[in-house]
Amino acid sequence: MTDSSRAPGVLHVVATPIGNLGDLSPRAQDVLRSVDAICAEDTRHTRQLLGHFGIDRPLLALHEHNEDGLAARLVERLRAGDSLALVSDAGTPLVSDPGFRLVRAARAAGLRVSPVPGPSALIAALSVAGLPSDRFVFEGFLPAKAGARRERLQTLAAEPRTLLFYESSHRIEEMLADAVQAFGGTRPAVVARELTKLFETVLDGPLETLAARVAADADQRRGEFVVLVEGAGEDADARLAEGRRVYALLSKEMKPSLAAKLAADITGAPRKALYGMGGGADSEATGG
Ligand code: SAM
Repeated sequence: MTDSSRAPGVLHVVATPIGNLGDLSPRAQDVLRSVDAICAEDTRHTRQLLGHFGIDRPLLALHEHNEDGLAARLVERLRAGDSLALVSDAGTPLVSDPGFRLVRAARAAGLRVSPVPGPSALIAALSVAGLPSDRFVFEGFLPAKAGARRERLQTLAAEPRTLLFYESSHRIEEMLADAVQAFGGTRPAVVARELTKLFETVLDGPLETLAARVAADADQRRGEFVVLVEGAGEDADARLAEGRRVYALLSKEMKPSLAAKLAADITGAPRKALYGMGGGADSEATGG
């Protein structure tokens, strides 16, 4: 039933727990209880969450495959006076989760979009990592394919701000190995796992130590991860400059891959940042 005299509704973007259900704020509960419908990524998952709090509202599935089509219809409902909530499976909607198109459409229609802030894995991880937090870059999930992932990491090697990545249990080991190659083994990093859950673990140390620890212990590969890498500091820049100088000398005398490995070992610069520099890449197989 639409009533043209009704004021437009509000789209509430509501953060939900990333593990501990106690993190659903009282205001989030009030808002979820009050809306006409809740747009959820996975309605079964959200029904369980709502059930825990005794909240019973109609649920609509909104995920990456139907968001484009659904956004226009939801905007019509908001215009007609219905209030809606948007939630994702965990954490803050739109942060590596659906919702961007709906929020954009609602704003473009001049409708009110209001946040109910709360948990997000990236901020939770940043808040406990002990890495510089005044400026940071959230990279979300890296590409699944190894080549694209390594390339992306490589483009970030000189980034001075703290880097944050989301990662799954399937790829955490490979991702850390690639990060060692891209940033160098000595770069300070943090692996934040299962935050707010029973097996919450926050490991810190040089990237190569973390990569070895995770590779050696299957328990450290279970669950959900945020990986944080300290930005390239002046030291890293100086190492890179020295690495490039040594590589340039060595690559005149030997294969570029061996020159890059030796220059990286000698200077601590990331091998991949040196490899192929002016000398042409001869092989990807050399470790280091
Ligand atoms: N929207 C969510 C947020 O605000 O954090 C993120 C959703 S994204 C699809 C899921 C990823 O977030 C996981 O693969 C993991 O990288 C990270 N994540 C979610 N919950 C986590 C937790 N409890 N501990 C560590 N990482 C978590």
